[in-house]
Amino acid sequence: MPFDLDRYRERAETFGEELSREYYRHLAGHKRELEIEPIYATYADLFTRDSVMALRDLAAAVPDDDDGRRLRYLLHFGFDGLVGMETRAEAEELAGLEASLEVECGDGVVPYRAVVIEQANEVDGGRRAALEDARNAVLEERLNPIYRTALERAHEMCREFGWASYAAAYAELRGIDLERLRAQTAEFLAATDDAYGPLIDRQLARAGLPELGEVRRSDMPRLFRAPELDEWFPAEGLVESFEATLAGLGIDLRTQRNVHLDTESRATKSPRAFCSTPRVPDEVYLVIAPHGGREDYGALFHEGGHTEHYANTAAEMAYEFRQLGDNSVTESFAFLVEHLVSDPVWLRQRLGIADPAPAVEHSRAFRLVMLRRYSAKLAYELDLHGASAELARMPDRYAELLSGAVRVPWPRASWLADVDDGFYAACYLRAWALETYWRAALEERFGERWFASPEAGEWLRGLWRHGQRLNADELLADTLGEELDFTRLAAESQAAET
Ligand SMILES: [Zn+2]
Repeated sequence: MPFDLDRYRERAETFGEELSREYYRHLAGHKRELEIEPIYATYADLFTRDSVMALRDLAAAVPDDDDGRRLRYLLHFGFDGLVGMETRAEAEELAGLEASLEVECGDGVVPYRAVVIEQANEVDGGRRAALEDARNAVLEERLNPIYRTALERAHEMCREFGWASYAAAYAELRGIDLERLRAQTAEFLAATDDAYGPLIDRQLARAGLPELGEVRRSDMPRLFRAPELDEWFPAEGLVESFEATLAGLGIDLRTQRNVHLDTESRATKSPRAFCSTPRVPDEVYLVIAPHGGREDYGALFHEGGHTEHYANTAAEMAYEFRQLGDNSVTESFAFLVEHLVSDPVWLRQRLGIADPAPAVEHSRAFRLVMLRRYSAKLAYELDLHGASAELARMPDRYAELLSGAVRVPWPRASWLADVDDGFYAACYLRAWALETYWRAALEERFGERWFASPEAGEWLRGLWRHGQRLNADELLADTLGEELDFTRLAAESQAAET
């Protein structure tokens, strides 16, 4: 049977719609089970080798215009789905084990997935380290063999499709020069080396933890917990501060008919905010179970950024440009809105914090750790997924790169668990860099209180209309005539006091 591209597009869109709604219903606590198996079964034709091969042939033959973009985004979707189908058994086994395994650390058991939360709330550094060792032992023994099977399968499939490696496959599918990104983030690491030590040591001292060189990876959750900041970020003010921020931008969240704000409490609702997009822009969910705390604010504002990006995407664009494309773009808007929670002007004005410096400094430290960790992750993932990767050497390589960037001895055990599917780490890194351009443009045009300017909101909606038709580089060139690099991000990270 000949390949029917129009039919493939239609079915891809309805598949995504059903899957996204099912995730929403499960994670929002409307239904206990997550039933995605029947959805995959109904749409199995989307992820056959023949379909994906047909897309690969079509995409290879089309120039780099809108038709070419649509085909590449669709091929990315199809190939991800095919790899997902082929490694489904491992994914299910891992999810089942992670949800049921327990970690024994001398004084009772802790659920595997709760270890990080337990570490964040544990004042005894010895017990934090014991939890880490016990968790890593479980990871190595029970989970890593399954992760490894799935990884080798994914690598094989890339070769079957004619790519030299998994890294080559995803560089092409994402349209991102991953080697150039590796060079840029290596420069970023070098540029922030001097600022990193003092910034992190001040935060470690504040948290009563040992300094860099002494501090352990198991202490990091404690460092970022920062309970002394809780009083500034109360659960009651969370949704209100988000709505007030949008109102300042001229966006009335309650009357956006395509945005469903879900703040009700339900027994099985996800504790973390999320955004679901069954139909873009017509059906977008922003879900939150408000707990309060700086991280909760950050999560809601991040997801709120995705929500407004998708909700303002032009309905008349092709499915591929509304739902697929370069996620560096949507992540950049998520980071832009999330960044407000670290902005001293916003903290003063919206939360009434007289001295926002401790919260700002804490956020800067957290962000720089994340940026350096992701820079190292990208370098590692390029090695792991490269054509000449020797898997036996990868645990050491992982520990070496992460320890070097974060300057905390990093355990080898998570060399497989700490890998994002399909180089998603590259999207985050590009988004962090891209966000600094949007924020600089907003400040230049509308002042440091841009978040209280309806004109700034108008400008943002103009950007959001594009959905993800253009990738991060193209959108930036198109809008501001600039080229995406990490110079501004490095300069921000080097800056002394705010
Ligand atoms: Zn995000």
